[in-house]
Amino acid sequence: TPAGNTGLAVRDLTVRFGPFTAVDGVDLDFAPDTVHFLIGPNGAGKTTCVDAITGLSKATGSVRLDGQEVLGIPVRKLARQGIGRTFQTATLFENLTVLQNLDIAAGMHRSRWSLLGARSRIDPAIDEALEDTGLGHVIDRPAGILSHGQKQWVEIAMLLVQRAKVLLLDEPVAGMSHDERQATGELLHRLKRERTVIVVEHDMDFMRQFASEVTVLHQGKVLSAGSVDAVTSDPRVQQVYLGS
Ligand code: ADP
Repeated sequence: TPAGNTGLAVRDLTVRFGPFTAVDGVDLDFAPDTVHFLIGPNGAGKTTCVDAITGLSKATGSVRLDGQEVLGIPVRKLARQGIGRTFQTATLFENLTVLQNLDIAAGMHRSRWSLLGARSRIDPAIDEALEDTGLGHVIDRPAGILSHGQKQWVEIAMLLVQRAKVLLLDEPVAGMSHDERQATGELLHRLKRERTVIVVEHDMDFMRQFASEVTVLHQGKVLSAGSVDAVTSDPRVQQVYLGS
């Protein structure tokens, strides 16, 4: 973990849509070196939380990255601060190759890169991202012909190329095959070594297998937080999920 990486601390996060409070005074601590799962029933406020953290929803409260306030700063600047996000539906350029997609993602660092006087043709972060995600053998293929799983990995690779320190992934394994899900879980654990990984997820089996920490949201509030065992044995969580 790079020095000074203290993760993401969310305090009293609140998002209102008119009279309705979708996220209601939420505190979250996303530590570095963890794969933190954000779960909860439909409408619990998970996506709205992530939208607020990434500047897509107007929110009040505080979001500190390594101690520095980042709530309310413009999305583009947020990426430069090291906060990156994927969406459920891939946002990559389907007609361009994997390498071209990564090259575009790297673009925003290019000016800084050339200021450093670097001479190499390819950004070393691209090589690293390809190795981490295991996409080296498909770099020249159009992104559009990749499997659903591979597309999600390209999205993650794009965040790595942008030097994201915090990765927010919205249902990364939705629609994936069993093997792709296992590969994704292992990828998350490789990535967490130098980063904070936050996963919004519905898939409970995937959560049980790969979460190092879990927060359960319900009706815009934190219902339970802790280890997989602590959270899944919490009667309040069982009640919400089993409806008993
Ligand atoms: P989750 O991701 O946990 O399923 P969401 O964050 O999508 O939940 O939604 C939380 C609540 O906020 C839901 O009741 C949803 O209907 C409401 N909501 C989300 N976005 C908006 C919006 N733009 N305007 C009004 N209500 C919204």
